[in-house]
Order: sequence, then structure tokens, then C-alpha cells
Amino acid sequence: MPWGHRRFSLPLLTILLLINFACNLPSLTVTPSDSPRAADLTSPPSGSTRTSIPSSPTRTAHPNPTLAVERTPALKPTSIPPTLVGSLDDLLATCPTADEIERFQIDFDIFFDPEVGLPPYACDDTNPRLAIYQALRAMSALYFDQPLPWTSYSLYDWLRGAVSGIVLRATEISYCCDDQNRIVIKSELLSQPSYSSWYDAQSGIGLMDLVGLIVHEARHAEIGGHTCGNSDDATLEEMGAWGVQHYYFLWMAEHTPPGLLTPTQREAAMAHAETALGRICNP
Ligand SMILES: [Zn+2]
Repeated sequence: MPWGHRRFSLPLLTILLLINFACNLPSLTVTPSDSPRAADLTSPPSGSTRTSIPSSPTRTAHPNPTLAVERTPALKPTSIPPTLVGSLDDLLATCPTADEIERFQIDFDIFFDPEVGLPPYACDDTNPRLAIYQALRAMSALYFDQPLPWTSYSLYDWLRGAVSGIVLRATEISYCCDDQNRIVIKSELLSQPSYSSWYDAQSGIGLMDLVGLIVHEARHAEIGGHTCGNSDDATLEEMGAWGVQHYYFLWMAEHTPPGLLTPTQREAAMAHAETALGRICNP
């Protein structure tokens, strides 16, 4: 049973923010999809087992026949490991390397439902496959001066432990999870130009919100559904999906090293932390 929530009467600002990271809002006009069919949930056949990446020696790569790293002139390839980036803006100005993409496919079963008809991967700003890879790069690059309140792992490693993969599908709402413990992201969300930057002040959203959505849905895999009404959490202490979404933004605002985020990005993260807090009935 997917954990979903449906809430329609929200203030405009909240709606704008939640367009992208609430696991639930049918805020874009979509045709609700039929229930997922078993065949749709099948991953591509496994490929060779990787041994060259120490952090995940036993995982199996999921070959993606469309994986052909193309670069646009505006985006530079990087040879800098994600964990060493000076700023998220610098990171996102570069394309993921083939090695990085392979790492993500080893760490996660990333499945782009062919029924959605997504364009092939390309390193351009509105490519939905790129948005997923950039989100994972950013998660890998985010580090904090205090442990996250709900895990002793890094954000990226926590995600690896919480879910087995990420599915992009034409679904009315994003949700957790399919029968293979993969979070399901509404594919329509991922073609937005705002996701090409960590935070786009003009739209008020950015890739930080896609990561917020991923964090939210992945938490459902660990802790279950919402506990206040259909879509809110009862308390912050229970550290539910909204609680960890709140702390993700709060830690980004207050516990990342100088320079990793711009002041504007920190302010946005703090505002988004407050928005998530607003979904907790007794914070
Ligand atoms: Zn939720």
C-alpha cells in the first residue's frame, strides 16, 4: 500500500513549495495512471558485479542502454569527487561523469519506466534523467557539522540503506514504495528548468526540493505512513517523513560548511524547513 497524501487547501506559498516535494500533490495536471503492472516494475537485467567501488562491492550494476553521456557546452565535466566539491553550484554546473552515473546505478536500482517515454539521458538542464543523477550527486556532496537527527550515516548512505532504488513513473503522486522497495517519483516533476539549479529564486524551488522529496519518500520506507490525518505527521519527535524533511532543510541551512551553499540558498532551505514543520500537527 503506497504511502500517499492528498491535501488541497494550502496557502499559495505552501502549494508552490509542495509542488515539487510533497509526495502527493496532484498539483500538475496529469492523467492518473493505472495501477502499476508487475511488468513495469521489472528492472533491466543485472549486469556485471562491480568490485572497483569499495563502498558497494556487492551491489550489481543496472545497465541502462540509453546511458550515453552527452555534454552541452554550458556544462563542464568534472573530475572532482562529489564529496570534495566547494559548492553545490559548482557541482551542478558540471555534468555527472560516466563513473558517477555507474556508481548511482550500482547503489540504486534506478528505473525509468519506458511507458513514460522519457527522452534519453543527456546532460542538459531539463533532462529528467539528469535531474535524478544531479540530485544523487548533491546528496553525496552534502555534509554537515553534526549528524543528521535521524541517522548516523551520511545523507547518501542513509538513502542507500533505506530504499533499494528510484523509479520515475507517470503517477498521480510520488510515493513510497513499489514492491521492490523503490521510491516512485512522479516523472512529470522532473523536466522543470528549476531543477537545473540547487535553488531558483524566481520560481522558489530547485533541486533541493527534489532531494527533499526523495528524503521524504525514503523515510516512509523506514517508518511507515503519516500519523495525523491522511498526510501530516503528529509530532516532530516521531521523526516521520515530514520530520526528516524538516531536518534535512534545517541541517542544510545551519550545519553545512561555509561556501557549500549561498546565503540565498540557506534562506530558502530555512523557509522550506518551516514549510515542512507546518505539516506536523504538534511540532
Ligand atoms: Zn508522505
